[in-house]
Amino acid sequence: DVRHGPILYLEDVSVSFDGFQAINKLNLTIDDGELRCIIGPNGAGKTTMMDIITGKTRPDAGSVWFGSRHNLLEKSEPEIASLGIGRKFQKPTVFEALTVFQNLELARATNKSLLPTLLEQMNGDIRAQIEEVLELIGLKELHRQEAGILSHGQKQWLEIGMLLMQRPRLLLVDEPVAGMTEQEMERTAELLTGLAGKQSVVVVEHDMGFVRSIARQVTVLHQGSVLAEGSMDEVSNNPKVIEVYLGE
Ligand code: ADP
Repeated sequence: DVRHGPILYLEDVSVSFDGFQAINKLNLTIDDGELRCIIGPNGAGKTTMMDIITGKTRPDAGSVWFGSRHNLLEKSEPEIASLGIGRKFQKPTVFEALTVFQNLELARATNKSLLPTLLEQMNGDIRAQIEEVLELIGLKELHRQEAGILSHGQKQWLEIGMLLMQRPRLLLVDEPVAGMTEQEMERTAELLTGLAGKQSVVVVEHDMGFVRSIARQVTVLHQGSVLAEGSMDEVSNNPKVIEVYLGE
C-alpha cells in the first residue's frame, strides 16, 4: 500500500472577502497517493480552497498542513510550490513556439529546488524523465512538434506533463476536461488515475460523468464547507446534495 496517512490536512479553515464568508470552517483530509474529486455548485468555494492550499489566499482562521511537518500557513507561495505542490489551472499555458520536448525540458529546468541539474543532464537523467513523462501523457510521437499545433486536449496533457517534470507530491487540477472531446476525456481519466498512487491528485471538476469515471472519493463543497463526502454513488444519492444541485 502506497498510502501513509494524510498528505494534506485542512482544519476549520475560514476566509471571508468583504464580509462574505467564502470558506467556512472547511475540513479536508487528502491521503498520500489518493485521487480526490472536489465538486460543488458555482460559488461553493472550490477555487478559493485551491488558492488557500497554494498560498495565494491566506485564511482568516484554521490550519493547513502538508504532511505532518509543513505548516503551509507559514510558507510563501514559492515555498509551497517547492515543497512539491503543483497546480494546473483550467486554461493550458504551454509555450506554443517550443516543441513538446522543449516544453518539458524547460519545465524541469525552472525548478530551482531540484538543482544541481547539470550533473543529471550529463547522466541523461532529464532525458529519461522526459521520455517517461512523454509516455505517461501519450505525446511520445509528437515530441518534436511545436506545442502550438497540438489539440486543446493534448495541450492540457502537456501542461500536466510539465508539472510532472517537477516531481510533485500533490497535484491540484482545475477542470481538466472543460472543452475536451469524449475521447480526450477518456484519455484524461486514464492519465489522472494512472498518476494516483505515485502522487496525490485533487481534481476540481464540473463534469459529473467524468468525476464518476475517475473518482474513488468525492467531496462536495457548498457555501464554503463540506456538504458530503464518499463515493460518487453515495454523494449523488445524498438528499442534501440533490437539493443543492437542483437549486442551481
Ligand atoms: P467556486 O470555485 O466553487 O465557483 P469560488 O471559490 O470561486 O467558488 O468563490 C466562492 C465565493 O467567494 C464566490 O461567491 C466568490 O464570488 C467569492 N470570492 C472568491 N474570491 C473572491 C475575492 N478575491 N474577492 C471577493 N470575493 C471573492
